Amino acid sequence: RKSSPAQTEFYQAAEEVLECLRPLFQHSPHYLDHSIIERIVEPERQIMFRICWTDDDGRVQVNKGYRIQFNSALGPYKGGLRFHPSVTSGTIKFLGFEQIFKNALTGLPIGGGKGGSDFDPKGKSDGEIMRFCQAFMSELYRHIGPHTDVPAGDIGVGGREIGYLYGQYKRLTGRYEGVLTGKGLDWGGSIGRKEATGYGAVYFAQNMLEALGKALEGKTCLVSGAGNVAIYTIEKLYEMGAKPVTCSDSRGTLHDARGIDLDLLKELKEVKRASLEAYLEQHPEATYIPAGEYPEGGHAVWRIKADAAFPCATQNELTADDAQALLDNGVYCISEGANMPSTADAVDRFLEAKIAYGPGKAANAGGVATSQLEMAQNSSMEQWPLEKVDEKLKEIMANIHRQCADTAEEFGEPTNLVLGANIAGFRKVADAMIDQGVV
Ligand code: NDP
Repeated sequence: RKSSPAQTEFYQAAEEVLECLRPLFQHSPHYLDHSIIERIVEPERQIMFRICWTDDDGRVQVNKGYRIQFNSALGPYKGGLRFHPSVTSGTIKFLGFEQIFKNALTGLPIGGGKGGSDFDPKGKSDGEIMRFCQAFMSELYRHIGPHTDVPAGDIGVGGREIGYLYGQYKRLTGRYEGVLTGKGLDWGGSIGRKEATGYGAVYFAQNMLEALGKALEGKTCLVSGAGNVAIYTIEKLYEMGAKPVTCSDSRGTLHDARGIDLDLLKELKEVKRASLEAYLEQHPEATYIPAGEYPEGGHAVWRIKADAAFPCATQNELTADDAQALLDNGVYCISEGANMPSTADAVDRFLEAKIAYGPGKAANAGGVATSQLEMAQNSSMEQWPLEKVDEKLKEIMANIHRQCADTAEEFGEPTNLVLGANIAGFRKVADAMIDQGVV
């Protein structure tokens, strides 16, 4: 820790996993004999590179690029690319570490990886986005491949960016192959991939509630974020008969007590790429809370009365004070669409309260699982119908929930899905590492 002080988010993620593994090591000390801890926290490979591109004024811009190939015990590296000005090597390391266990929980043959850049897509023209993506891929292409490392989207990387990245990969290699997921439906993409993370987080919540003899139908739900994961969480909540009443972006929070107008939200975020404030032009009765007016030490979105909450924006967006406010307001189900959205103290509050709490690495695994289904379709040159993809997604989410719950039960803490997810994911990866020898 002393040698790399800037990896705060990685330490947060690693500490959570390692704390949860204590009872496993008492029960199965052979993992310690094989030095699995020392090996699993060290990435197999980290690539850092310079990205030079030209803006619309003809000025040369320079950004940092990253790809971390963390663990390949279970399959080719798999994990998204994040384009956001806050991205550092520590951010990518935390995301890559989480990805190892998430991918293991899907039961599919995929290892853990992640990548991205400190590039800020906000306010950039299409031409600038394209030139940046081309420059990014001009270095990345030599490190990835359909059987080695298959990136996907994350914050700031959606269908448009995947298209430009894919075009450049094809130009450089001359190969039309499944090297990225989240592709367009006419050129190798899987039906249902765009929706999968959000839908999966709602299926996970439904699984948690069913175990308690409850359902999402008729429940008021809080959603944060207004990007890919948030939008399709809201869509699936409506399909389940629930009422999502909030969403948020980096500038503010929107509260519409009658339920968020999903068509308008898609129009604002997927087409116009506008601020949520514009929602009020059509729905003046809704409330918009600018980020400057958030409560101290917290986020306005978690202070609204509801039954369930779906954090779908970014890491550490839900503090201990927010967690307490949610509990005080009667929220009894949290399903994390984002990666590590709750701070360590917030997680402790949820676990102490013994509510239905689905940690990101389990609850948002539907996205990467469907990415693997896209890889399977690319290998067999098929395209499956929505019903088949959705059926598989439902099955995978139910299976992840079952593994987490059964493992939590096995270790004497039946409501602790954090413990269940970490032990179940770790065991799969560690067993494969032992089988494959010291490499
Ligand atoms: P998008 O870029 O589509 O949306 C991100 C949303 O979160 C935007 O509304 C954005 O607001 C908001 N946001 C991002 N950073 C911040 C910040 N620092 N403070 C406040 N708001 C912020 O990304 P996704 O929806 O794809 O990803 C959201 C989360 O889900 C991330 O944690 C990601 O790692 C996780 N995830 C995504 C998967 C996927 O398939 N896409 C799979 C599994 C997990 P604004 O537009 O104003 O920046």
